[in-house]
Amino acid sequence: MIHLFFYDLVAMPGSSLNPQDQLDAALEAVRLGRLAEGEQILKDLSRAAPDFHDSWGHLAHLLVQQGRIEEAVLCYQKVLEIKPGLPEAVLLLGDAFYSLGQHDRAYRTYLQLKGQPVFESKDLQIRLARCEPAWRLLLQRGLRKLPELGRVLVSPGFYCALGRELWLLPRSGSAIRLVGLKAYLAFLYHSLVREKTWHFPLQHCDLCGGNRFEVLFFHRRTKVVRCLSCGLETAERKPPEGQDVFSGFFEREEIIVGLEEEWSDPALIDVRLKSMKGLFRNLDIDFPSAGWKVFEVGCGQGQFLASLVRAGLTGAGIEGSKALADYCVRKYSLDVNATSLKALQPATANYDLVYTFHVIEHLDHPSELFQKAHQLLRPGGYLFIETPTLELDRLPLRNRLDEKTGYANPEHMHFFTHGSLAPYFPRYGFDLVGTYQYLSNGGFLGRKQDGLF
Ligand SMILES: [Zn+2]
Repeated sequence: MIHLFFYDLVAMPGSSLNPQDQLDAALEAVRLGRLAEGEQILKDLSRAAPDFHDSWGHLAHLLVQQGRIEEAVLCYQKVLEIKPGLPEAVLLLGDAFYSLGQHDRAYRTYLQLKGQPVFESKDLQIRLARCEPAWRLLLQRGLRKLPELGRVLVSPGFYCALGRELWLLPRSGSAIRLVGLKAYLAFLYHSLVREKTWHFPLQHCDLCGGNRFEVLFFHRRTKVVRCLSCGLETAERKPPEGQDVFSGFFEREEIIVGLEEEWSDPALIDVRLKSMKGLFRNLDIDFPSAGWKVFEVGCGQGQFLASLVRAGLTGAGIEGSKALADYCVRKYSLDVNATSLKALQPATANYDLVYTFHVIEHLDHPSELFQKAHQLLRPGGYLFIETPTLELDRLPLRNRLDEKTGYANPEHMHFFTHGSLAPYFPRYGFDLVGTYQYLSNGGFLGRKQDGLF
């Protein structure tokens, strides 16, 4: 658990342990998953040393993690009684009000930070914008959008999409209450007027084929829905090939240059290698196994594939961005083709391993990855997938608003959990033979079944 509050130790009468030791014991219990014990220690500590604001802060954090937001609010308020204006506590109290749907209170709470450096941060400005009263938004910004609105008013598709949203309004109620009216109006503007996502067809669930969904979240142009049959979470409207191919994001030179440092980081390559090694070790397979033929879907700049080739494997792959594929060939002389998964036509099924890191969540049809991997692999060959697998719907709002791993990532077309990705394997002819969870990421290893599929 992150230490969110500054320490301010006070003596604790009647206890052999000082408050810091008790706090450490509580955090250790929480870290080991003994939440009730950790909570009890923190409560005892708060009672015995009521001015020790750090214990109130951690207690609040623990309650938020369990979805007990009302109780957390009381703890944050206690922190602020002890330490008036403590920025972290003000921010988290605002978040707690926001999670409860009390956007006005959240807005007023965030405003208390005015004049402090944190007030100028992007994070806080996003929060303020999300809970700014809707009437102010309409008045200040709506009028400026009128010319833009005029241009879409001549499109029949706009009226169909708007009518559909109005028709679905009763079923969108809980998601609107969660994100706030302003965020919903922003969604209507971005999806209907600015980006016209109604050009992209509505699709059945990629996993089970179901066509009944519940609305979970709105963020800018994205409406996140969940299949009522299987639980798969997805953006309701998806560009063909996914958003980053559609927008040409990874064709841009400045993006490629900007990502070079992150993707070349030996620590990243090492952690990925260790993750795969661990899964194979459980199967008594030494990975990377010299002589294996491996195929990467979404090679990026090719650093990981190049490391496997250096280890004695034969590697090939595809990359949706032509600029990135060229980079792989130019820098590492890799056998990487610029093509989409959809267009890939595997000629032979002789690969030992098909793998992919953080690609499947970008696909409009994740099932295509399984189909193509099945065509590429020899019988008994392996399919490895790593993707974010946070249970976003159960996490605090700030996790859902995370622009990397949350619903707010505009490039992510699907939001997997362990429960929604694992069923793909048997459905497409694989036995799921290993998994891991590392921070926000889930790893999955499947083995192609021997029989005909
Ligand atoms: Zn489904």
